[in-house]
Amino acid sequence: MRFFSTNNRQHEVGLAEAIIKGLAPDQGLYFPIQIPRLREEFIKSLPGKSFKEIGYEVIGNLFSEDLSVQQIKELVDHTLAFDAPLVKVEPDFYSQELFHGPTLAFKDFGARFCSKLMSMLLKNQAQKVRVLVATSGDTGSAVANGFLGVDGVEVIILFPKGKVSKLQEKQFTTLGENIKCLEIDGVFDDCQRLVKQAFLDQELNEKMVLTSANSINIARWIPQALYYFRAYSLLEVYQKKLVVSVPSGNFGNLAAGILAMKMGLPIDQFVASTNLNKIVPDYLNGSVFHPQASVQTISNSMDVGDPSNFPRLLALFNQDDFELRKIVKGYFFDDHQTREAIQKIHKLGYLADPHGAVGYLGLKSFMEENPGFQGIFLETAHPGKFREVVEETLNMKVDLPDRLEKFLKGKKESESMDGDFLSFKNYLKGN
Ligand SMILES: *Cc1c(COP(=O)(O)O)cnc(C)c1O
Repeated sequence: MRFFSTNNRQHEVGLAEAIIKGLAPDQGLYFPIQIPRLREEFIKSLPGKSFKEIGYEVIGNLFSEDLSVQQIKELVDHTLAFDAPLVKVEPDFYSQELFHGPTLAFKDFGARFCSKLMSMLLKNQAQKVRVLVATSGDTGSAVANGFLGVDGVEVIILFPKGKVSKLQEKQFTTLGENIKCLEIDGVFDDCQRLVKQAFLDQELNEKMVLTSANSINIARWIPQALYYFRAYSLLEVYQKKLVVSVPSGNFGNLAAGILAMKMGLPIDQFVASTNLNKIVPDYLNGSVFHPQASVQTISNSMDVGDPSNFPRLLALFNQDDFELRKIVKGYFFDDHQTREAIQKIHKLGYLADPHGAVGYLGLKSFMEENPGFQGIFLETAHPGKFREVVEETLNMKVDLPDRLEKFLKGKKESESMDGDFLSFKNYLKGN
């Protein structure tokens, strides 16, 4: 499979290069030169197919030139080690739960796929690959857990001292093995600066292979298409039109859903649901695309003022914004509405996290304006992950699942470091 940069169609690279580089040198996002359509018989046979059977076919269709059948099987088996079930919340209203992975959020799918694929593509490389990750919390845990125990790869996580929640911190500092953690005396931006500087440092890049595995990497983006196929395979009826509402921040998840549609999955409409960081809903409703400083909300994984996957949304529609606005409808909601939704959904017998609740609200708005659909909202995180907000809103206790409790009991291991690049460089050289 070959990819172009969204900043320059003439700049083409193969799979391995797109993944190791992450971002194109011109700062564009990599995008498939051609999106292959799946066989009609496969789409017809989706009801009743298992998640892994779906994975073999979809990933095989995309990567058969780059990977053997055995590698594709291994990759899919590693990624789809947990399901993404549909739960009916109301008539014609489903939640797709994407939080059954190790760190309780949908980012586990992308992180697991990315780590496995990287190790496969780099197998013949004599040198170990170092993945540098700056994190303010969530990304660190998903990437670390995805790469845990993967051969030939070492992950180095930089996080700001005292600025990450205890639970989040435990999710990556207790793993050990090939996961190393550096606690930086500074803020998140200092961590990011150190990582960026390392990628630009000539001496380091001559000595070692450094890569980023950040969220715009195609190896994290593409596998997210898989659970849209899974959702479709689990529907009860197929006679109704289908709309999927995606609680969004950087818009990688939504862009992956549209990728699934472009491969032939019968989804009729998408809803871009956001909190007050509403740049994309505003755009979809007719404004120009106008990035802004982010504002803080209770659905904080979506507090993004300059959504990085926006160029991919346009590329999926060949830059045709009329078509994009036809297929994707945008809605946004404030924290008060989000809390009300958590309460309303709870009365229906379901526990939603703040992100899922925003997805629910977007779906509700769409369905009220467009009768005759059945709809799915993506539940992107386990409610226990945003326990304080959910407990305060519902005035009740929320249990943490066992796999989170397990992290809390683990022993934290990390090295402290100042925010000076030379210290970081010496650490990398000595490691
Ligand atoms: C990252 C994240 C999102 C936003 O996903 P994007 O692909 O960036 O739009 C939504 N919900 C949760 C819980 C997340 O962690």
